[in-house]
Amino acid sequence: MMNLPQSFKRKSVALMNLPQPYKIKSVEPINLLSKEERFKALERVGFNPFLLKSNEVFIDLLTDSGTGAMSQDQWSALMKGDESYAGSSSFYKLEEAVTDIFDYQYTIPTHQGRGAEQILFPILIQKMEKERGGKAPVFLSNYHFDTTAAHIELNGAKAVNVVVEEAYKIKDYYNWKGNFDLPLLVGNIEKYGSENIAAIIITITCNSMGGQPVSLDNMKAVYDIAKEFNIPVVMDAARFSENAYFILQRDPIYFNASIGDIVKKMFEYADIFTMSAKKDAMVNIGGLCCFKNDESLYREVQTLCIPMEGFATYGGLAGRDMEALAVGLYEAIDYRYLSTRINQVYMLNQTLAEAGVPVQNPSGGHAVFIDAKAFLPHIPSEQFPGHALAIELYLEAGIRSAEIGSLLLGREPKTRKQKDSPTELLRLAIPRRTYTNEHMEYVAHYVIKIMKNRDKIPGYRFTYEPLVLRHFLATFEPVS
Ligand SMILES: *Cc1c(COP(=O)(O)O)cnc(C)c1O
Repeated sequence: MMNLPQSFKRKSVALMNLPQPYKIKSVEPINLLSKEERFKALERVGFNPFLLKSNEVFIDLLTDSGTGAMSQDQWSALMKGDESYAGSSSFYKLEEAVTDIFDYQYTIPTHQGRGAEQILFPILIQKMEKERGGKAPVFLSNYHFDTTAAHIELNGAKAVNVVVEEAYKIKDYYNWKGNFDLPLLVGNIEKYGSENIAAIIITITCNSMGGQPVSLDNMKAVYDIAKEFNIPVVMDAARFSENAYFILQRDPIYFNASIGDIVKKMFEYADIFTMSAKKDAMVNIGGLCCFKNDESLYREVQTLCIPMEGFATYGGLAGRDMEALAVGLYEAIDYRYLSTRINQVYMLNQTLAEAGVPVQNPSGGHAVFIDAKAFLPHIPSEQFPGHALAIELYLEAGIRSAEIGSLLLGREPKTRKQKDSPTELLRLAIPRRTYTNEHMEYVAHYVIKIMKNRDKIPGYRFTYEPLVLRHFLATFEPVS
């Protein structure tokens, strides 16, 4: 066993024997090509798994975004979708679910999480300038998600991350690797001037740091600091229920609380939330931008929603999408579902750890992270060890995964120099309710098998490198 605190052990071991609280009604075939066919496919796409066709992939762990399985209640809710342009009853159902679960009064649906970001951030910056006299907008977060940082920068603002130092120590157990470093937060508010801080963004769970949770104490402390400096707080809430589950597991104060109560408590420590509903809320497309009680801010964002996302009662979604989302929000906070979800990820991580694979400790909510630098010590970072491991895993087993390291990070826009990545990781993101534990055993088997012959795995270099977001479309060749 890894070195886990007592409370964590108690809950997870007790629950590990409980199977998923659902059975399979409809199946989607998946296909395993032969190794020869997989090699040909890799050659065709220039050794970039993003360019594979999905039917060339056996187990797809590229992302947990929009790839979950909807329930029978969500599928039947689709039929009730009210496709009226304005005032759709499906919108009101969604709004009611938001108020019930989060205690937020105002709801704007959006097409995805980034849709919420693009209508909220410009308004937050304008308000900061008008009401607090700031001139050089900065956003502070435990860690900005890629699109979040991109929307901040597109609006001429700066995104600064202030996550705790423990987050970077992949091997060392820490309960709250998603937490804000509070002295660093205050230091940055003072450095940039509180009038220039457009908002503080609490990302739950902290996606870029491996789906690691933020503690309630930390959220409260962040909120108190924000109020002292008169700065609005936004919850970036894609994985809100997974974060609540970790609080239940690891914070003795909430040991007997319900997930629903913890969710309500978490959302007290923010004024606004944005959400990619493609994660915990288990819809294939959708997002939210919601306000606790600031009606005037809500009205302004609503106004921007119309040209950017669509009229304020549909925001880029069909009525049926809003129906499925209203149901998904409730299913996300179901304890039985959540415990098997988190345990599936935990068990894969644990199986790998016990076989000596260098993985993140502890695992987060939605993915297993392999330390590719430690796994493939002979491959230098400029030959992308995480990418090399992704290619090998596809070649050996038809499993698709994603590099999170130098390749993803890219170059400095001006000097074209490769940015220095603190880690080289391979991410195995686990879609929700989609794969069985047997699929996970298959994944573990092949990762362990690859480790035995790892010194033969080559690094990769570009044959084509796009200028921005290169990892999506680049092509490569192995370095012999
Ligand atoms: C996925 C995600 C987003 C962006 O959401 P999309 O639905 O992909 O646009 C924003 N923040 C976090 C933390 C995310 O995980």
